[in-house]
Amino acid sequence: MSTRPDRHEDPARPVVPDGPAPVDLHTHTLRSDGTLDPGDLVVQAAAAGVHLLAITDHDNLAAYRELTATAAPALPAGLDLLPGVEINCLTGGAREVFEGELHILGFGIRPYDEAFETLLAGQRQGRRVRFERTLGVLRNLGMPVDAAAERLDLGVIESLGRPTVARLMIESGYATSVEDAFERWLSRSRPAYVPREGVGPVRAINAIRAAGGLPVLAHFGEAENHESTIRDLQAIGLGGLEVFYRTFDQAHVDSVGRVADELGLVKTGGSDFHGDTGTYAEVHATTWVPAVVGERLLNALARRTEPAVANGD
Ligand SMILES: [Zn+2]
Ligand SMILES: [Zn+2]
Repeated sequence: MSTRPDRHEDPARPVVPDGPAPVDLHTHTLRSDGTLDPGDLVVQAAAAGVHLLAITDHDNLAAYRELTATAAPALPAGLDLLPGVEINCLTGGAREVFEGELHILGFGIRPYDEAFETLLAGQRQGRRVRFERTLGVLRNLGMPVDAAAERLDLGVIESLGRPTVARLMIESGYATSVEDAFERWLSRSRPAYVPREGVGPVRAINAIRAAGGLPVLAHFGEAENHESTIRDLQAIGLGGLEVFYRTFDQAHVDSVGRVADELGLVKTGGSDFHGDTGTYAEVHATTWVPAVVGERLLNALARRTEPAVANGD
């Protein structure tokens, strides 16, 4: 889930895609809080015109590992898959940012790095604790979702998240959409909000760097008002900013892009597809990430000794 760009008075000018986006560097699958199987996502992304895809599930690399395993079916022709992850970090004192969180994407991480896996396993445990606590709060509020939760296939969901809870609420008749569940119950300051457990941005950035990856600050529409925070993160290793984020209007793409240019940060972008608001094709149709964004990210990762991507050529 994302920071919602706001705080400007002009009517939002939507981004008009130049064509089908050839790059999508921000997607989720059923291995975290998305709804599609990883194998279905790569097929649908390739069919929509994507040539470079990163699956950035929360706190796990399961989708990348599955799709690149020796026994796995070949990736769709013409699709390159980049290892990715998203770590939702607690900011402690910086309460002015959305829900007190900064979301850090990692690209090009070594997919079997043991130290990184240890950090992610801790994050996933924190997610399970938060999930169980949220179910307890819902029970106390007279909205038990336990029956629906028992039907979840926890064998395929590596990382639980609030969208998972929201879908259980829909299934149990307490909400009409994921957005509705967040707005009335699950967002910070709403009655079923339970604080997250997990690492802060410094540990996440260090861990991504130590695993050979490039840390990128996700969907931070308020970048221009928080440039000093970004400079502080850059000093410890932040390497990029997500500029071409699907729900940013043109003013936000421009302003976050200006900050990236000024600080010399790599620009990334993507749909943040989860699957609740439409099919991949529908979400992709409103996403614009230029090809050069993928090229520059791959160049930034090119110092590594191993190949940055798995490909379907
Ligand atoms: Zn996020
Ligand atoms: Zn995301």
